[in-house]
Amino acid sequence: MKLKVLFVTAELDPLIKVGGLGDVSGGLPCALRAQGHDVRVLLPGYGGLRGVSLDDLPIAVRLPTPGHCMRELVEDEDHPPVWLLDTPEFREREHPYQKRDGSGWNNDAEVYAHLARVAAWLAGDAAGLDWRADVVHANEWHTALVPVELLLRRVPVASVFTIHNLAYQGIFPLTTAQRLGFPNWLLQPAALEFHGGVSFMKGGIIFADHVTAVSPGYAEEICTPEFGERLDGLLRSRRTALTGVLNGIDTARWNPATDDSLQYRYSIDDMEGKRAAKRALLDELGLPANTNDALLVFVGRLVGQKGIDLLIGALPELLKQPVRIAVLGSGDRLLEAALRATAARHPERFAVHIGYNEALSRRFFAGGDILLMPSRFEPCGLTQMYAMRYGCLPVAHAVGGLRDSITDASASRANKNNSTGFLFRNATVDALLEAITRALGIRRSKKRWMTMVRTAMREDFGWEASAQRYVSVYGRARSEREIFSEDTAGRPVS
Ligand code: ADP
Repeated sequence: MKLKVLFVTAELDPLIKVGGLGDVSGGLPCALRAQGHDVRVLLPGYGGLRGVSLDDLPIAVRLPTPGHCMRELVEDEDHPPVWLLDTPEFREREHPYQKRDGSGWNNDAEVYAHLARVAAWLAGDAAGLDWRADVVHANEWHTALVPVELLLRRVPVASVFTIHNLAYQGIFPLTTAQRLGFPNWLLQPAALEFHGGVSFMKGGIIFADHVTAVSPGYAEEICTPEFGERLDGLLRSRRTALTGVLNGIDTARWNPATDDSLQYRYSIDDMEGKRAAKRALLDELGLPANTNDALLVFVGRLVGQKGIDLLIGALPELLKQPVRIAVLGSGDRLLEAALRATAARHPERFAVHIGYNEALSRRFFAGGDILLMPSRFEPCGLTQMYAMRYGCLPVAHAVGGLRDSITDASASRANKNNSTGFLFRNATVDALLEAITRALGIRRSKKRWMTMVRTAMREDFGWEASAQRYVSVYGRARSEREIFSEDTAGRPVS
């Protein structure tokens, strides 16, 4: 059955992307559409949308509040239509979550609660657009109030809520929620109340018909106190309505054979370009052009989650070995400073580029031999999938989506021919070093290494399979809510 899906998100690559949420929102709706489903994406009309001038877009519908409207970015061959919620508060935002000075906005609760309200209004076609959703798919805390609004407005549309990262929950003072006009029953511990404030994330977990997390591993982990961010009890209580679905990647946009950011391109059948890409990257980073030594790369946000402190802890030992290390990232100012200081002390071996630069990240994956991903927790992780596609083998902490997407080289003999990386179990410097040593050991056998590289490049991380899993989740959400469609004369639709 073909479904009408309203996909609600705070980020959408390539219009606006801060992290993995942007990639997922850019990929999944297109994959659903390719499978014949009728998808609409709802996104805030931020002032900072790339390549879009809001004023040039047609108004699909005006909202009751003066100055508020919904603009439509019409579909093209591959992309479903995007509805942009145009309000002065969103227009003001160059970046979804930060002001120019790096501080957060103080009206997050208001603007994202408003987005959820508008989503419910659109889903039931109260807007009169002649389009009514079968399922609303909300993502992350910003849109976690969508299932709540569907309930409050009695919109009989099934809802799915996806947790991309439980560490960000949208927690606000109780008084803010009262000001937003939520009924008192909703501000109780059985609903949104959370340690004296309110948690938007709780709204999605409790009131969505089905909850997903972005990998099967993470879906399990968040039900434990270690990874549950104080919501593990609630998540355990919803275990039967919680499914892990591994994210996909856009394999057309991330392809070393056609990547415009690369001077030298390559494919599984012709790997010469990868060696050239490594030389070019070393040159770009100002590191000596020695392609025999392994080039270890890190790409990601420089925050505690990514285990960058483990990497920094491992550096003294690592820098004694015949390797080069390059880091691309931005985030915590102290971590940035520590990395810059290391680069200044070891200019021949260590390079760091502070900033967000997608083209450069592609050259890191193409030029790198090994990706370091010592994340303390990793809901899914896309970086390791991009790296594997570019033949850069991950050394990663065995958590969440990392353990679901990487086959460890030495887990057992059975993995000998299908291994794609190196996993370590404990988040310690020693365990990281041990896994890197293991990787460097295997790299000494060119044949074994190239077999792994080709296996990793061949892995199918495309969106197709994930989109199919989401469609079955949508089916479960619909039957959990017992939606009755007109054309089946009152029989439940599964
Ligand atoms: P998260 O969503 O936790 O940041 P993911 O691995 O799921 O981590 O996705 C991060 C995305 O952002 C990947 O596409 C990664 O390559 C990209 N990325 C992160 N930091 C940078 C950076 N400094 N420059 C370029 N791309 C980056």
